[in-house]
Amino acid sequence: MSGPDSEFDLIQRYFAAPAKSSPDVHLGIGDDAALLGVQAGHELVVSVDTLVEGTHYYPDHPPDSLGHKALAANLSDLAAMGADPLGVVLSLTVPNVDHDWLAAFSRGFLALSEQASVPLVGGDTTRGPGAISVTVLGQVPTGQALCRTGARPGDRLVVSGALGGAAAGLALECRRREEGQRPANAQAPGCARLFWPSARLAVGRGLRNRARAAIDISDGLLADLGHLCAASGCGARVDWPRVPLDPLLEGEPEDRARQWALSGGEDYELLFALPPNEPLELLSLSVRTSLTVIGEFTAGSGVEVVDANGARLDVARTGHDHFAG
Ligand code: ADP
Ligand code: MG
Repeated sequence: MSGPDSEFDLIQRYFAAPAKSSPDVHLGIGDDAALLGVQAGHELVVSVDTLVEGTHYYPDHPPDSLGHKALAANLSDLAAMGADPLGVVLSLTVPNVDHDWLAAFSRGFLALSEQASVPLVGGDTTRGPGAISVTVLGQVPTGQALCRTGARPGDRLVVSGALGGAAAGLALECRRREEGQRPANAQAPGCARLFWPSARLAVGRGLRNRARAAIDISDGLLADLGHLCAASGCGARVDWPRVPLDPLLEGEPEDRARQWALSGGEDYELLFALPPNEPLELLSLSVRTSLTVIGEFTAGSGVEVVDANGARLDVARTGHDHFAG
């Protein structure tokens, strides 16, 4: 790109925000690469996620929400590792230079970057089919990262916050579109969880040296629990009546609520294995977040969901798999 809408111009205008200087950022946007300091005795934690227009988001998704979500989803991966964020880089591909879109996107992205103290330290800006790729960098004391491996039979299965709110918001959005309504704006009621997710960074940090294994719920509880169990070489039982439900699910038929809470994606809560001797109430207080035991890790393999009488419930496990359909 060249001229008034050159890459340089766009970066200056939308992404070179005077990020609150962090002592970890030795060199930020503007050079050939950024320099970050990693504390002695820590490991560097890196994760990348790409959102493709038309596959992961509608072209008319409110851009401020999109900027927020792209960062929040990546921060959730750092949270699930128990990491402290150091910085973020953003690779943005846009089909055309739409200043309103860029202004709103960067506003959403940078507001969360500031709120979560994760400075934007670099990126790449190109023209092409719409795509947003975010790479987060963090650090964790060596050996203390929360992995998917490590859960043992007898550990409690614990989830943060409440589930199903994002799926409820998505259903609302889909209905609006089917009815031919204009796309929701980012403040649409009922869509808060879908449009403005938050990453459980404080919870992840608090789980270091306490939880044996952890994962964030991005594809749906059953799908992500399945990954955790497979990595840990054990099974799990979910007690459906104990699952904390988002208030948006109140009044919904039971089978729909169950589907949204157990298989809906994008809630970005943390799911973890807590050994029997680790006090839950204290942990919940220290991370200032509700934590709920929803079942137990078991010997064997696979995930089962049971009702109040211990009878098996059938729940479709369709998580988000973008190559599946
Ligand atoms: P180079 O050609 O060396 O890759 P660029 O012209 O792509 O450099 O980028 C110049 C500077 O602006 C670099 O420091 C890069 O990290 C930063 N940058 C480019 N695009 C973005 C963006 N979307 N967000 C944040 N920083 C960006
Ligand atoms: Mg570049």
